[in-house]
Amino acid sequence: MNILILGGGGREHSLAWAVKQNPKCDRLIVAPGNAGIAQIAECAALEIENGDAVAMFCAENAIDFVIIGPEAPLAAGVADVLRANGLVVFGCSQAAAKLESSKSFTKAICDACAAPTAGYAHFTDADAAKAYVTEQGAPIVIKADGLAAGKGVVVAMDVATAHAAVDDMLGGQFGAAGAEVVIEEFMDGEEASYFILCDGKTVLPIGTAQDHKRAYDGDEGPNTGGMGAYSPAPVLTDAIAAKALKEIVEPTVAEMAKRGTPFQGILYAGLMIKDGQPRLVEYNVRFGDPECQVLMMRLGAQVLDLLHACAENRLADVTPNWADDHALTIVMAANGYPGSYAKGTQIKGLDDLPETSGEMTFHAGTRTYNGQIVAAGGRVLNVTARGATLEDAHAKAYAMIDGIDWPDGFYRRDIGHRAL
Ligand code: ATP
Repeated sequence: MNILILGGGGREHSLAWAVKQNPKCDRLIVAPGNAGIAQIAECAALEIENGDAVAMFCAENAIDFVIIGPEAPLAAGVADVLRANGLVVFGCSQAAAKLESSKSFTKAICDACAAPTAGYAHFTDADAAKAYVTEQGAPIVIKADGLAAGKGVVVAMDVATAHAAVDDMLGGQFGAAGAEVVIEEFMDGEEASYFILCDGKTVLPIGTAQDHKRAYDGDEGPNTGGMGAYSPAPVLTDAIAAKALKEIVEPTVAEMAKRGTPFQGILYAGLMIKDGQPRLVEYNVRFGDPECQVLMMRLGAQVLDLLHACAENRLADVTPNWADDHALTIVMAANGYPGSYAKGTQIKGLDDLPETSGEMTFHAGTRTYNGQIVAAGGRVLNVTARGATLEDAHAKAYAMIDGIDWPDGFYRRDIGHRAL
């Protein structure tokens, strides 16, 4: 099988790494890829949000299967164009991508199928929104309706902060993505991520994870794209996961099918868990980054069979092999991230790190310059390990990081602390 993966972060490196281990993978191309991906696959420059360009590339390269990593091509309808060209695609349609790209759409779906989530109201008028905030009181959560690169949510502990967030968002802070705001009840509890493959009809859970959003140890500092993750998430017990599947995920998938926009791809449910009850915080329609890295490490080569079955509506016929193991990933980021940071700083020691089925350093933002690996983004490396226990995986990953010589980078020393 000739396979094309769209994307070029740590998520796509881990997808490529898992897919490549499967003997059914003949040729593997990743667009655009990065310096780490280039060590295991061909990298191609391609406009990945342009469906026609991707379709033409697939025809020229006899691609049999396309895996779409990031949300932007999904929201742009790339999966629809590729399917219209007869390609087998892992990734949801533009209509189904609204589960991530519009928070008010997701809320309406939850209403329609009675999925437990925070109470809410939505507004385009700032005065009406602020009057609602005053009436509800704080804490309260203000969200820009559209995609705002993870920055469109303000958890306000007081009314003044909530009012300011309403003014900023409806005042154009996020452009069209903030033309509408969703105002939600504050939910207390512990967060976890649940990953479910869906082929429009059948759902197949493939793992749970928890991430670390804040930049510094002790959950201090600014929000980031994620500084580390581990799988499984102990808070998502089998009983709670089963409840989330039955009360939230299955009704959502049925509602999407009923509307003529079946969901096909990976549904990533962000859940808030309190007193044994899961409630939906958000959906994403792609793998989380860095949660994908720990899932791929645990699933390994079978990922290709699972994603391909999902894309061909055959999920009912596949059975994943579950190992009773744990994986943990630590993100190394450039000093200054998530603020401004230097690019082009040299990273040494990578060649001597172990690369096994249970130890891998995935590249997020790297490139090769004069034969050296240099940083090319904010989040740069994902040092990932698997073990029989979380303690095991944790010890292995932190031992690997000691071998990396990159004075211009930093990482959290407490990844996994909640579960350890
Ligand atoms: P990302 O994709 O980066 O996770 P997002 O911009 O899509 O974020 P959400 O996931 O909806 O936004 O919210 C971001 C974070 O805000 C959540 O992970 C959660 O910690 C917090 N949050 C969101 N909604 C609520 C809520 N109703 N009650 C309490 N906390 C919330």
